[in-house]
Amino acid sequence: MKYADLHVHSLASDGTYTPGQLIRESINRKLSAIAIVDHDTVGAIGEATAIAAGTDLEIIPGIELTAQYENQEVHILGYFLDYQNNALLEKLKSMQQNRIERVGKIIRNLEELGVKLNPETVFNISGKGTVGRMHIARALVKDGHVGSTSEAFRKHIGDKSPAYVLGFRLSPREAIKIINDAGGVSVLAHPYILHNDTLIAEFAKDGLQGIEAYYPEHSQSMINFYLDLAKSLDLLVTGGSDFHGSAKPEIKLGMVKIPFELVEKLRLAKK
Ligand code: AMP
Ligand code: ZN
Ligand code: FE
Ligand code: FE
Repeated sequence: MKYADLHVHSLASDGTYTPGQLIRESINRKLSAIAIVDHDTVGAIGEATAIAAGTDLEIIPGIELTAQYENQEVHILGYFLDYQNNALLEKLKSMQQNRIERVGKIIRNLEELGVKLNPETVFNISGKGTVGRMHIARALVKDGHVGSTSEAFRKHIGDKSPAYVLGFRLSPREAIKIINDAGGVSVLAHPYILHNDTLIAEFAKDGLQGIEAYYPEHSQSMINFYLDLAKSLDLLVTGGSDFHGSAKPEIKLGMVKIPFELVEKLRLAKK
């Protein structure tokens, strides 16, 4: 049996593995394919594709776009997209700029709560990658404000925590269109986060093509629920570990993996 992990982050966003390290680890874990889906960037895809050439591992070009629906973040995955598409790259540039500004706002919120953090500490951790809350969480750990990144999210910067800032400019419909315009297939990431499954039918009307039914936080009964929902809405099904390396140490690469036939169905949906 061939398996794939379709939700993997690299140093190009908030993961801690280089493309080379991801490929080595994927081969060790006997995966046949991984999709690198960094937040609002395709920065790792070219290098990963070059390194994996000549191995038995397939790199599926991907992305995880952050959209906003009412007052929550909605993550839309894109698969098999043309990662050199100029219109895509232009849009990503503006999203990355927006993320830099958002970090400033979160740091100001933290300061009002009595938690002083130097932006430099955050940007040194994110390096050349798109910056996000995971880098803020690691900076909070580094400066001793919290003991772990999960504590940072719980206390300070989680979606419902006091220093959280929303402020993403895309709607799910726009994120789906950006992915489709770059030749990709759109999939709703970790649907449990919505806490509102009726939204999935809305997003399907907006052109969403699949849902990530298999995910570490999904129990077997949730998986079954999402599989049934996918069937009734005529959506594809994907899954993956949301691997972030040492930034999320409890998650191992390939911890959630899907049979390769689901990858083939996804590939066929490409326009
Ligand atoms: P951002 O794109 O800046 O909003 O950050 C989203 C990322 O933060 C997610 O992809 C996860 O890596 C991480 N994250 C969000 N919520 C949590 C949480 N409660 N615990 C750990 N990591 C989280
Ligand atoms: Zn992340
Ligand atoms: Fe996500
Ligand atoms: Fe992710």
